[in-house]
Amino acid sequence: MANAPHGSRAAKKRWGKSPWTIDFLPLPRLLPGQVDFAVVGGGFTGLAAAAWLSHLAPENCVAVFEAESIGAGASGNTGGMVLAESSAGDLPGLGDVLGGFGRTIAELGVDCDFDLRGAWEIGRKGGRKDSPIAWSDSGKLRVVAEVAGGTVDPGKLVSQLARTADRLGVHIYEGMRIDEIGFQNPLCLKLGAKEIRAENALIATNAQSLELSGLAGRAEPKFTLALATEPLKPAQLEVLGLASGKPFYTVDLPYLWGRMLPTGGVIFGSGLIDVENWRKLIDLDIDAGRAAELIARIERRVRGLDPVLKSIGFTHWWGGPILIAEDWSPIFIHHGRSDRVIVLGAYAGQGVALSVHLGRWAAEAMLGLRKLPDWG
Ligand SMILES: Cc1cc2nc3c(=O)[nH]c(=O)nc-3n(C[C@H](O)[C@H](O)[C@H](O)COP(=O)(O)OP(=O)(O)OC[C@H]3O[C@@H](n4cnc5c(N)ncnc54)[C@H](O)[C@@H]3O)c2cc1C
Repeated sequence: MANAPHGSRAAKKRWGKSPWTIDFLPLPRLLPGQVDFAVVGGGFTGLAAAAWLSHLAPENCVAVFEAESIGAGASGNTGGMVLAESSAGDLPGLGDVLGGFGRTIAELGVDCDFDLRGAWEIGRKGGRKDSPIAWSDSGKLRVVAEVAGGTVDPGKLVSQLARTADRLGVHIYEGMRIDEIGFQNPLCLKLGAKEIRAENALIATNAQSLELSGLAGRAEPKFTLALATEPLKPAQLEVLGLASGKPFYTVDLPYLWGRMLPTGGVIFGSGLIDVENWRKLIDLDIDAGRAAELIARIERRVRGLDPVLKSIGFTHWWGGPILIAEDWSPIFIHHGRSDRVIVLGAYAGQGVALSVHLGRWAAEAMLGLRKLPDWG
């Protein structure tokens, strides 16, 4: 299996460069005429579901169709903070998201530097007296509470999920954008002039291809931004209150989240850009317009948090798509036009652990082993 830096394959878009490396390249293969299970979208959701499908039912033919390269959507551009529950909190039957994530990657043998040391909620009111963090950001930001959570290396998570899926027999096709699905029996996935028949399909395209998923008008695509600082010295991290290495996010506005990198750099993220429709996401350029303004604003905010950061340099600037549905609740449903098609996504900004936890559930549902949740 060839290894190559991911950046070269994803260079068309101008979403900047995240610090993560995706080092799995699928074997080039001829497109199949027919599959048992078609997974559309090669992010965490699609890759986890495909790997779990083949893990449970290796006799089936499972294929992932990814429009660009694996991880090219949110998954390769995420912050990689893992949190419990969903953006809408706990939901009936959701179960233990962090436990489900941990079990799934352990059972699949996915090593992604999963670290469950906890996460901090930080805020301008109600800060703890012993808060190690005291940053200036429209008031004084302090630790309000510690919650379950931690971090993964998202590049490793994408690569290892894909590698595991491949090892289990899943065929992964990059550069294959599914344009349309014909809802006959079997289903008919169309890419240009080519047609692929499938018994069942999972649409895991997140903020893109909303006509395909049937989510246009039901969920809003947005673009969000992040940057990484140059490495900080241990003494500087101590002053910042980040020596424990715990990731953090604000519980009040203006929103700010962040996490440490193994290099000693710190990622900070914030900001939501509205787009008229999902196609505008593809044209977004982080060096121009609203995205560039927001990146400059995050830089100013970070430098103002503490004197230690006053002249800090930055090494990475990037952004990615998120999909926000009503009530910020994830969508996990049968497609309106066929019970053979499941649509899963819209995790808003909280989809790293959730995508794998629910991707596993989607695989089990496709095999008839489990029902979809009521809240989907
Ligand atoms: C900057 C940023 C920071 C974030 N930070 C965090 C965080 O710290 N913690 C957290 O929990 N969540 C975070 N999130 C959210 C989290 O990353 C996402 O919820 C998660 O990655 C979604 O995974 P996914 O597989 O559903 O979607 P994606 O990773 O977006 O995958 C969808 C894939 O579908 C492909 N596709 C689209 N249309 C088609 C088509 N027609 N045919 C074939 N393929 C298609 C796309 O190319 C893409 O690769 C963040 C998101 C961003 C953008």
